[in-house]
Amino acid sequence: MHYTIYFENANHHYVNIDFELDTKGSETLVFHLPAWRPGRYELGNFAKNIQKWAAYDEKGQPLIHQKLTKDSWKVQCKGAKAILIKYNYYAAELNAGSTYLDENQLYINPVNCLLYVNERMLETCTIELKLPSNYRVATGMKKVKENGDRVILTAADFHELADSPLIASDTLQHNQFVLDGIEFNIWLQGECKPNWAKIICDFFIFINEHFVMMKEFPVQEYHFLFQLTPYAYYHGVEHLTSTAIVLGPGNEFVNKDWYDEFLGISSHELFHTWNIK
Ligand SMILES: [Zn+2]
Repeated sequence: MHYTIYFENANHHYVNIDFELDTKGSETLVFHLPAWRPGRYELGNFAKNIQKWAAYDEKGQPLIHQKLTKDSWKVQCKGAKAILIKYNYYAAELNAGSTYLDENQLYINPVNCLLYVNERMLETCTIELKLPSNYRVATGMKKVKENGDRVILTAADFHELADSPLIASDTLQHNQFVLDGIEFNIWLQGECKPNWAKIICDFFIFINEHFVMMKEFPVQEYHFLFQLTPYAYYHGVEHLTSTAIVLGPGNEFVNKDWYDEFLGISSHELFHTWNIK
């Protein structure tokens, strides 16, 4: 399953998505958008953010589709070898489990906005991001290629994809360190003045505590993805190889109470790596 993600006017908050899939001879295919997301045990309605949805065969001919439920669509394949679904997603909400686009960043929680086909969930997924050339990408997903305006990411299956948020921006601040052979990455998006030496030192201390208690870490690489807002906010969502945390106000790094919350939520979300699945 292959996804191409791009946008034209970021301030309009519409993310464009092209989803390509070979039909493997199926006469009909049913496409779904998840109604669930990691860390939240209730039904979601992400499909309400889709404004247009169309299906084409490999020659670009439109195919007939029918909406079955609020988040599923059935396509008549008519002998097509491959199907292209072109749709968009309104991304104007910023929290630790949402998808958001503005002139500063593209922030994607794939579970909100990437379609899948039930019987094909275990297939490899690739994402191609078409971005402004100075953008960098923060994610726990594997980067196959990152050059200029084209970044290709891969996930072993849809479950891994749905569990891997990403931030793409030209204002990301980044630092990393290695503890017991595991690479830890800290990504900060939004206005803030981090004291990196202190942050690295404090993360090292709490992560080491986790390691002493749990003995081994389940993954080789981990990413803390922070959205620092100008207003007060406190929300984190756990994933296997990363966490998305929205915290604000981002200019409070020097405030001890705020900084303790910053460490506290980071420690909490990291601890989920041992027990979310
Ligand atoms: Zn929790």
